[in-house]
Amino acid sequence: MGKLKNYINGELVEPVSKKYLDNFEPATGEVYSQVPDSDEQDVQLAVNAAKAAFADWSITGLEERMMILLRVADGIEKRFDEFVKAESRDSGKPIKLANAVDIPRAISNFRFYASAVQHFASESHQMPGVGINYTLRQPIGVVGCISPWNLPLYLFTWKMAPALATGNCVIAKPSEITPYTAYLLSQVCIEAGLPKGVLNIIHGLGGKAGQAIIEHPEIKAISFTGGTETGKKIAATAAPMFKKLSLELGGKNPTIVFADCDFESTVKQTVTAGFSNQGEICLCGSRVFVESSIYEKFRDAFVARVKTLKVGDPNEESSNLGAIVSAPHKQKILSYIKLAQEEGGTILCGGNEIKMGGRCGNGYFIEPTVIEGLDYKCRTQQEEIFGPVVTLTPFNSEEEVLMMANSVKYGLASSIWTTDLNRAHRVGEKIEAGIVWINCWLLRDLRTPFGGVKASGVGREGGWEAMRFFTEAKNICVKL
Ligand code: NDP
Repeated sequence: MGKLKNYINGELVEPVSKKYLDNFEPATGEVYSQVPDSDEQDVQLAVNAAKAAFADWSITGLEERMMILLRVADGIEKRFDEFVKAESRDSGKPIKLANAVDIPRAISNFRFYASAVQHFASESHQMPGVGINYTLRQPIGVVGCISPWNLPLYLFTWKMAPALATGNCVIAKPSEITPYTAYLLSQVCIEAGLPKGVLNIIHGLGGKAGQAIIEHPEIKAISFTGGTETGKKIAATAAPMFKKLSLELGGKNPTIVFADCDFESTVKQTVTAGFSNQGEICLCGSRVFVESSIYEKFRDAFVARVKTLKVGDPNEESSNLGAIVSAPHKQKILSYIKLAQEEGGTILCGGNEIKMGGRCGNGYFIEPTVIEGLDYKCRTQQEEIFGPVVTLTPFNSEEEVLMMANSVKYGLASSIWTTDLNRAHRVGEKIEAGIVWINCWLLRDLRTPFGGVKASGVGREGGWEAMRFFTEAKNICVKL
C-alpha cells in the first residue's frame, strides 16, 4: 500500500507528525493508500521554503518560467496513463472521462498559462502634456491554492499554473479524498526541474492543513474552489487579514429548454449536462426547466436516454457513470432522494443505491435519478446535491422560467436551448449566473472569465482574470 508524501522545498517528505489518513477507492470501498495528515508545522515548513524561493522565482525570466512550466506539462503527458488510472481510482470517475477530460485539461492548464505569461501586458495612461502613468503587475509573494475532489488535478493545476506563471510561490492543498494525482504531480515537478520551494504541496484535512494555510499571515492570497459553506469560513478567516480572495463555490444550475430547441441534440446534451462525472461537477445542469408544450415529449425522451446510461466499474470502458466519491457523500445524495419524495416528487427513473458484484461489491454507486412534480421552491430544487439527481419542471413563459431559474441562492452556470437567437440573448442577459451556455454545455475556452455570482463565489478565474488575480497592480506616475 502506497504512502504519499508532502512536497516541500523540492523534496518528498513525511508529515512532521508522522500521522497518515486512509485513502479509499470509491469503486471498491477499500483503503489503498495513505495520505499525510499534515498540520500547521508542515505548512510553516512550506511557507519557509516558498519565501526563500520567491526572491529568485519572481525575477526569473519569462521565457525560462515558460520553459519550466512546459516541461511540467510534458512530464504529465509522458506519464499520461498512470495519471489517468490514479485519477479514476481516487475519485471513482470512469477511466474514459479521466482519459478524455481531466488529465488532458491539466496538461492544457500548464501549457496555456506558460504561454500566457509571454503575452501578459500592463497598462499605461497618458496625461497629455502633464505626465504618464504606467502600471506594474507584480507577483504577490506566497499564495495558497485549495481545490476539491471532483475534478482533482484539473482544478488543482487551473489554480497553480497562473500563480506560478506570474512569479508567485505556491502552497497548494488537494482534497484529502483525492490526493494521488497531486502526489504524482510533485514527482513530475522534481523531474521537470522546478526550482525548490516554488511549489509546495501539502496533503491533509481541510479543517487542519487547509485552515493552517488560510490562517497563515505570510500567505497573502487564497484561490479556493469548493463548497459554499467552506467558502464562507475561509472568507471569515481571511478577510480580516486583508488577503486577496478568489472563491469558486457551489452551484444549482438551471437548464432551460424551449419548445423550439433542436430536440434530439438537446435531449442528448442535457442528459450529459446532468450526469457527467456522476453529477459531481459544479457546472452540471441539475434543474431542467422545459416549456410546457413539449414537456411530456421531452420528459419521456430524457428519461429513456438516462435509462441507457450504464453505471459500472470505472475501469470498464462501457461505464458512463462510475462510483460516488465517498461513503458519506453517497449517503448525502440518497438522503436528498428521500427528501424529494417527502416533498411530493415522483421518481421517473433511478432513485436507489446499486450493489455491484465482483471487485466493486463494497463500492459506492447510485442510479442516475430523474424526479418531477416538485415545487421550484422546495429544498430539493434549491440546495446543491452534487450527485446524479436531476429534477424536471415545466414552464409557460420566459418570465416564469427566469423567475424560477433565478430563485436559488447560487449563480454559477446555466444553459439555454432554443433556435431563436434573439430569445437566447435576451434570456442569457437576465440569468443570474457567471456562465451561460447557449445550445451547448461545458464548451470551454480557457481565455474566458470563469466563476459565479451570489453564493457561487467571488472573483473570476481563467485567462487574464487569473493573471490579474495573482498579481498586484502598482501605478507609477511620472510628471513630465
Ligand atoms: P469542500 O468545501 O468540502 O472542500 C474543498 C477543499 O477545501 C478541500 O481541499 C477541503 O479539504 C478544503 N477545506 C475544507 N475545509 C477547509 C477549511 N476550513 N480551510 C481550508 N480548506 C478547507 O468541497 P468539496 O471537496 O466537497 O467539493 C465539492 C464542492 O465544490 C461543491 O459545492 C462544488 O459545487 C464545489 N465546486 C465548485 C467549482 C467552481 O468552479 N465553482 C468547481 C468544482 C467544485 P478536505 O477535502 O480535506 O475537507
